[in-house]
Amino acid sequence: MKSINQINAVQNKIVLKSGKDQSVRRFHPWIFSGAIKKIYGNPVNGDIVEVYDNKDQFLALGHYQTGTIAVRILSFENVIPDRDFFYKKISSAVEYRKKLGLFNNTETNVFRLIYAEGDYLSGLIADYYNRMVVIQMHSAGMYKIRDEIAKIIAEILEDNVVAIYDRSDATLPEWLEVKNGNGFLKGDAKEIIVSENGYKFIVDWKTGQKTGFFIDQRENRALVQRYSDTMEVLNLFGYTGGFSVYAMKNARKVDTVDSSSAALKLADENIRLNYGDDNRHSSYQADAFEFLKECKGKYDLIILDPPAFAKHNDALPNALLGYKRLNMRAIEAIRTGGIIFTFSCSQVVSRENFRKSIFAAAANTGRKVRILHNLGQPADHPVNIFHPESEYLKGFVLYVE
Ligand code: SAH
Repeated sequence: MKSINQINAVQNKIVLKSGKDQSVRRFHPWIFSGAIKKIYGNPVNGDIVEVYDNKDQFLALGHYQTGTIAVRILSFENVIPDRDFFYKKISSAVEYRKKLGLFNNTETNVFRLIYAEGDYLSGLIADYYNRMVVIQMHSAGMYKIRDEIAKIIAEILEDNVVAIYDRSDATLPEWLEVKNGNGFLKGDAKEIIVSENGYKFIVDWKTGQKTGFFIDQRENRALVQRYSDTMEVLNLFGYTGGFSVYAMKNARKVDTVDSSSAALKLADENIRLNYGDDNRHSSYQADAFEFLKECKGKYDLIILDPPAFAKHNDALPNALLGYKRLNMRAIEAIRTGGIIFTFSCSQVVSRENFRKSIFAAAANTGRKVRILHNLGQPADHPVNIFHPESEYLKGFVLYVE
């Protein structure tokens, strides 16, 4: 981590164009490159820069990076972003999870410990897996100080952490010169088995998606369990079987579909871990869109949890068409009185847009559809009200007649 002297010596300063200070004054934590009028000093990727309006008034400071998001703001006050600064922010993220009852919880030991902008730490994600922490950096600035961040996490969590693993390789841009591959920053671990609402899961934190598990679906999975009593359930985009394990509690039959054979292998293991050999469950390696074509009248409950269809705004129209097409097929296929859990995790798709694409899907099928629940992300993924993008997970439970 940079010492105070180094930060002062660099004196990197960014001045915004007239009017571009508005969103910063409303605490939005990103400065887009198009908002910049002039850069003073010579900041390189990951450096601290100070941000000023065009009347030379201090607005914020943060990590600089070339690319669309030029600055990820760390503070709207003119403070020094030293070790103590990060220590306090991480402590407060941990304290908040303690308030949520997520530490020393006998049912659940997997949760998000630090959620980037949701914890005022843009660029930093940390997930907690039964005394192992997997961190994932989304900015050069956070990546450069990852050793220090790991030490702070270890210091704060004390006996609650045995290993810390860095999985930033896939989330940092290819061109970033500081990239150094994944690896342990503390301790060592092999297989991790976590407990979520009492269910056991093997987490593939080394090669799995994101940091290994979709922690954000914890509460929605519990709702699936409630609705799957005696049902024939289809879990599309099932990954390692998160929803399937919950549905299996009382369902008559559960089918898990994913395009990845590695994910399905873990899904089968996770079912075995919780239920032993149970022939109510089957896995199918297939394209979800294709699989749905053959499903008419076969299921009472369908879960649609696809990967983000849009990562950028320019992909939005196609993404909305994708959601419409997928939901249309599911609404067509489901039995009368059936339930659909449908999700979008695309940051650029608003809840309203997602709902409109489901509306269009329902209208096309001619079936009657009611919304039973509006779903989102749990409180360990808090939404920063000044950063609407942090509300990425949107879901609906539909009742189809
Ligand atoms: N519901 C899961 C997370 C889903 S992640 C959970 O709760 O853990 C999205 C999954 O969709 C990934 O496992 C990916 O392999 C799978 N996938 C992506 N495109 C697909 C497609 N066209 N058909 C089937 N699966 C797909």
